[in-house]
Amino acid sequence: MIQLIRGFKDVLPGEVELWQAIEKTAISVFDDFGFKEIRIPIIEKTELFSRSIGDNTDIVEKEMYTFSDRKGDLITLRPEATASVVRSYIQHKLYTSDPVQKFYTIGPMFRRERPQQGRYRQFYQINAEIFGIDSPLADVQLIFLLVTLFSRLAVPDVETHINSLGCPICRPGFKQALIDFLSKTKVKLCSDCIRRSKQNPLRVLDCKVPSCREAMAQTPSLLDFLCYECVRDFKILTDSLEHLNISFIIDKRLVRGLDYYTRATFEIQTGFLGAQSAVAGGGRYDGLVEALGGPDLPATGFAIGLDRLTEISDLQIDDYHKTPQIFIAALGQKSKGKAFEWVCSLNKTGIRAEMDFGEKSLKSQMKRANKLGASHVLIVGEKELTEGSAVLRDMMTKKQVFISTDAVIENVSRKLGALPL
Ligand code: AMP
Repeated sequence: MIQLIRGFKDVLPGEVELWQAIEKTAISVFDDFGFKEIRIPIIEKTELFSRSIGDNTDIVEKEMYTFSDRKGDLITLRPEATASVVRSYIQHKLYTSDPVQKFYTIGPMFRRERPQQGRYRQFYQINAEIFGIDSPLADVQLIFLLVTLFSRLAVPDVETHINSLGCPICRPGFKQALIDFLSKTKVKLCSDCIRRSKQNPLRVLDCKVPSCREAMAQTPSLLDFLCYECVRDFKILTDSLEHLNISFIIDKRLVRGLDYYTRATFEIQTGFLGAQSAVAGGGRYDGLVEALGGPDLPATGFAIGLDRLTEISDLQIDDYHKTPQIFIAALGQKSKGKAFEWVCSLNKTGIRAEMDFGEKSLKSQMKRANKLGASHVLIVGEKELTEGSAVLRDMMTKKQVFISTDAVIENVSRKLGALPL
């Protein structure tokens, strides 16, 4: 038997209803906050990701699904959405009518990471991006949106972690202090971090290997190196979060390894996910629009891990238990044909109707209606068709009434339309 590829998964009926409810809630929150949906392709030119995420990152170095297509062009299954949204914003000059744009997008991402609980090779993200706003209030709005969404989704125990990455003026001073610190502690770092400490030292800060975390506990903090503007913005960020009653933890290890990322960075964590504690992450990337060939416009955004969200949301879902409102038990060739027409018409009018497509006895059709949990059964045979009246049975009360076969749709709709859909 052909099995799933490792790290990929199916979302089955029974699970998918929670996914749908989360997506629906997210869309309604985005709507309330004035975000518009944007849909972007799943495959892009490899260069888009290597330039925006950066060559010296784990994603680009070892995790991308990259192929050459039939013409030999290098293409990649997207590992994240921001790069594509930025490309689209630039390519369609979406900034000309108004540089301020707020987008969201929901869909699958692909990274060839080591699969484990909470970490997949195809996973889903809910992304939001705000373009054209310099003020840290845009970052606050994103964090507030996340907190609002998690509360509407009954996600317990979320912690908001924040940090500032500084800007091209103040970060070099921190980078040097970090390099000095790393040269003293190198022996205790994992092999990846030894490599990172040369190519992209900031990334050593968020290594999850316990020995590296221990070695980095005493690392200098970027917050001590911030310039006047970055201090001012960080203060606006923290003050505004306090005003909104959002508690937060200042986490000096929260970083993004690239120069495009500036100032505010944040992560939502929860104790429920074990090692994979981050359920959402984001921050400001003021240099990226320009670096990808657009105008010098600021931007900020976040990505929520939808798979992880489904693992921690306490939302109560009963959609899976939606049962048929009516089951048509038909006997004989002619009645089957008529029953099929009725099922189609009832489905069209929004009534959950089912039938048996085989040649089963009335007894076994009633059994099936029971198993599906149908609230009513319409029984129709050749005799009923000729006489123009069929039996409608209420499966709860066991009461039966006759309804005219010439007006089944009208009668059933009138009777069942009042039932909760
Ligand atoms: P990132 O794009 O790496 O900042 O990730 C944003 C969010 O996506 C994380 O907080 C996770 O919730 C989720 N995520 C990232 N990688 C994976 C993965 N391999 N499997 C499942 N969720 C993931």
